[in-house]
Amino acid sequence: MIKGITSYIKTRMNKQAVVKAPKLQILPRSQHPISRSEIHEGALKVLYRLNQSGFQAYLVGGCIRDRLLGKTPKDFDIATDATPEEVTELFRNARMIGRRFRIVHVRFGREIIEVTTFRGKTQEATDKRIKQSDEGMLLRDNVWGSIEEDAIRRDFTINALYYNIKDHSVYDYTGGLTDLKNKMLRLIGDPATRYREDPVRMLRAIRFAAKLDFKLEAATEAPIYEQANLLLQVAPARMFDEVLKLFLSGHGLTTFQLLRHYGLFAFLFPASHEAFKTNPVALVVVEQAMANTDLRISEGRPVTPAFLYAALLWPGLEHIFNDLQNNGVPAFPAMQQAGNRLLQRQNQHITIPKRFAFPMREIWDLQLKLPQRQGKKAWVLLQTPRFRAAYDFLLLREMAGEATDGAGAWWTAFQEANEDEQHKLITSLGRSPVKKSGSRKRKLRRHKPAPTN
Ligand code: ATP
Ligand code: MG
Repeated sequence: MIKGITSYIKTRMNKQAVVKAPKLQILPRSQHPISRSEIHEGALKVLYRLNQSGFQAYLVGGCIRDRLLGKTPKDFDIATDATPEEVTELFRNARMIGRRFRIVHVRFGREIIEVTTFRGKTQEATDKRIKQSDEGMLLRDNVWGSIEEDAIRRDFTINALYYNIKDHSVYDYTGGLTDLKNKMLRLIGDPATRYREDPVRMLRAIRFAAKLDFKLEAATEAPIYEQANLLLQVAPARMFDEVLKLFLSGHGLTTFQLLRHYGLFAFLFPASHEAFKTNPVALVVVEQAMANTDLRISEGRPVTPAFLYAALLWPGLEHIFNDLQNNGVPAFPAMQQAGNRLLQRQNQHITIPKRFAFPMREIWDLQLKLPQRQGKKAWVLLQTPRFRAAYDFLLLREMAGEATDGAGAWWTAFQEANEDEQHKLITSLGRSPVKKSGSRKRKLRRHKPAPTN
C-alpha cells in the first residue's frame, strides 16, 4: 500500500538531497491510500464541522501512520487551531479534559474522538501556561501554536503526519514518510531532551518498535540505556495506563524482551527484575504469560489487566512469600503479607487501581487453594468467580516448569470429566497432604525451566 508513496518520496527526496532538515512534503490524495470511507464517521463529523466553522482540522498520529502501513487504526485523533473552548462550543457531546494538558473529548456512542489544539512555544520564561520540572520534564503544556510548531512537539516522525480534511492531502513536516518507508522510529528533535521532557516516550518507542516491527534509529536508541531511570519521575497512575498499552498491544512478548534489553523493565517491576537474577523459572512464567496474552488477543479473546499484572508481579511475590515461609510464617498469612509488601513497593512505580489489585490478589491466593482439592473442595473451588483466571495462571506456572505437583493437569481433567470420573479423580488424590504430613508449609518450589522452543 505504501508503494505509491515510496516512488513519490524517492523523486522528492532526490530533489531535496541537499536540504538537511526535512521540509514540508505534501502527498496529494492521488498519492496515498487514505480514503474517507475508512475514517470513523464521528471523526469525519468533527473534522467537517471544525472546517466549516473556519478552523483548520487534521487527522493526526496513529490513525494516519497505521493507515499508511495498511493497518487498522486503534483510534482517530484530531489536531486543530481551534482552542479547547472553541471546540467545546461547537459540539454538544464534547468535554474538556486535563488541566495540565488540556484537550477535548468528543463522544460518539462508545467511541471517543480526541481533539487537540496545536501546541506551540512561548518566548516568556515565566509563562504559566508551560511548566517544566528542574529535570526538564514537561508538567504543563497549554500554549497554542501553528501546525508547524505542533508537528515538532510530537514524539516520533511517523506520528507527526497530518491528513488535511480540506483537500485530503497528507502533510509531513519532519520526514515521517521516509521513516515509515524505512521502518524507522526517529524521535523529533534532540532525543535526550525529548526523553527528559517526557520519559514515557521511551516506553512509546518500545511499544511502536514491537507493534510495527520498526527499528529505533541510532540517536533515538542510545539515550534510552542511560536515561531509563527517568521513568521514576513519571506519575505512578499514568504508568498504569502506559504499561497496559505496552502489554495489550498484541506484541507483549516482544515488548517484554525489548523492555529488558533497554533496561526499562527494572524501573517498572523492580522486584520481578531482581527475582529473574536468581530464578530462571520466574522469567519463563512471565514470558509464557506474555505469549499467552498475545495469543488470546490474536484470537479476539478477552485479556484482563488483573491477570496480566498477576503474572508480571509474580516473580517478586514468590520471592517474598518463600522468604516468609522460610521464617516460619504459614502459607496463607505469608501470601497476604507478601502481597502487601510487594504492592507497597510497586505502587511507588505503578499504581494498580483497587478494582484490578483485588482480583489479582485473588488469583494469587487461589494458587495456594487450587492444589487443595480433596473431598468437596474441588466443586466449591470450581464455583469461585476467579477460578478460571487462577486455573489459567496455574497452568502457566506448570508449563513454565514450576513445581505444582501436576495440579494444573489434574484440574484440566477434572473440568472435562463427568461426575463419576470426577469422584475417581478426587479419590486418586488420597487424603489431604496437609493433614497427612501435619505441616502447613506450602512452598512455591522451583523446577528447572521447561523447554520453550
Ligand atoms: P495508538 O493510538 O495506535 O496507540 P498513537 O500514535 O495514535 O498510537 P496516541 O497516544 O493516541 O498514540 O497519541 C496520538 C498522537 O499524539 C501521537 O501519534 C503523537 O503524535 C502524539 N503524542 C502522544 N503521546 C505523546 C508524547 N508523550 N509526546 C509527544 N507526542 C505525543
Ligand atoms: Mg491514537
